[in-house]
Amino acid sequence: MSPKFIFVTGGVVSSLGKGISAASLAKLMKSRGLSVTCVKCDPYINVDPGTMNPYQHGEVFVTDDGAETDLDLGHYERFLDVDFSRQNNFTAGQVYETVITRERRGDFLGATVQVIPHITDEIKRRFQAASKGADIVIIEIGGTVGDIESLPFLEAARQLALDLGKDNVLFIHVTLLPFIKASEELKTKPTQHSVGKLREIGINPDIIICRSERPVSAELKAKISLFCSVHRDAVVEAPDAATIYEVPLLFQRQALDEQVLMLLRKRAPTRDMETWRALVEKIKNPRREVAIALAGKYTELKDAYKSVHEALLHGGIANDARVHVRYVDVQSPRLEADLEGMHGILVPGGFGDRGIEGKLRVIRYARERGVPFFGLCLGLQLTVIEFARNVLGLAGANSTEFDPKTRHPVIDLLPEQKRVKDKGASMRLGAYSCALRKGTLAQRTYGAALVHERHRHRFEYNSRFRQALEKAGLLVSGVHAPKNLPEIVELKGHPWFLAVQFHPEFKSRPERPHPLFAGFVGAALERAQEAPLAHAKQ
Ligand code: GLN
Repeated sequence: MSPKFIFVTGGVVSSLGKGISAASLAKLMKSRGLSVTCVKCDPYINVDPGTMNPYQHGEVFVTDDGAETDLDLGHYERFLDVDFSRQNNFTAGQVYETVITRERRGDFLGATVQVIPHITDEIKRRFQAASKGADIVIIEIGGTVGDIESLPFLEAARQLALDLGKDNVLFIHVTLLPFIKASEELKTKPTQHSVGKLREIGINPDIIICRSERPVSAELKAKISLFCSVHRDAVVEAPDAATIYEVPLLFQRQALDEQVLMLLRKRAPTRDMETWRALVEKIKNPRREVAIALAGKYTELKDAYKSVHEALLHGGIANDARVHVRYVDVQSPRLEADLEGMHGILVPGGFGDRGIEGKLRVIRYARERGVPFFGLCLGLQLTVIEFARNVLGLAGANSTEFDPKTRHPVIDLLPEQKRVKDKGASMRLGAYSCALRKGTLAQRTYGAALVHERHRHRFEYNSRFRQALEKAGLLVSGVHAPKNLPEIVELKGHPWFLAVQFHPEFKSRPERPHPLFAGFVGAALERAQEAPLAHAKQ
């Protein structure tokens, strides 16, 4: 059977939660026994988001095969509980790079190379390549309809509908119904305009998903149906939900899956969403509460730590607890006061020296006061630096990332990284094995001997200092054996103090919380029992 394609576009404004809508629909399709894959197209010229500042683009999500991708891939993996690859995300930069390389090779000799058909053909080739083996392919086109950048992607989608026929390609447009306070109404005009824009380029949406902060009345849905020329049942509302994991259920209630299957003329068994429904109930009504500090430097932009945030919530699910994630700015002058009352402290990954000294103070605080602590990637590197400086007494110990001339380079580049010239896609990326040392906190928490975790960093624990660090109490509890690279450190005699060189957050799923996040939140809950939630709520 050839796959059916569903395109998801966005209208009116960005940040509408298109990714959540796409992932939720994917979840519903999967619950009907169909094999589903998701693709995100990003219309920018960067080859991947790897070199972008989190303020531009939020977190960079890393796949097992080491692709640096858009954070929407994280939503897809979490909702579907599958591992995607570099095929599932591509950018305009990649498309142009391929076409230009082929042009130089002489593949188009004699022809003028143009957006239509050369760029659009390459986009369609990538749609098809990603669709292998799937019944349903959900393709989310980044940006907002009307942007110059996304035009070639929309054009390729329009062509695909022509190539494959209407029964095989469906268009879903996600828009905003703004609420006007003065007149107390939701407005449909921006949606009408944005659908008009789509029509100009030859796409008629089949389904409209309306994001709104208020319920959308039947009258309003009828109006949208009439003005935008979609069936009445094909106007679906997406109100703000208590948890993003509830969105598939909100869609199911409006029979979005039935609509989609009917329009695509696809038969599928009845759905089974009972396990998911139970999960959502559990998320909404936990027995306990805990406050965790996420001490980073991009605290104004929650998207910068998307997967860490979600993994903490999953850790909560595993412990039947609501996790209040408190974003603590490591550049705050009253840092220690901000940490007061927190039941656990997490230091996430990062690049560059801004905020480093603050993070070191945070780690010292957790170490000395016995607060459960979890360090991720840069969080491990700083854990080693803090310990080297304040316990081993190696003054000025540092990473060569921040002080290339440090006398004690406890974190350093491996020789192969010293040779790297280009910044793009040249870090240690993707899944690597990690062997766990018997009897350690890490090994007990994982309940395994060997695990695979995703990486995204250039610098490494410098094994030259390992003996001294271990002797003083900072154990190496996991190593990447083929290269003997320390991957996990933990502190003896502390209730829960562990840091990892990888990014476990990328592999946590609501239905399968990551063991380290579950263990960390569990330890924080124990501390919460001694000091219940005071001023820690957000
Ligand atoms: N900047 C550090 C490195 O490149 C840590 C990276 C990270 O936290 N992802 O090694």
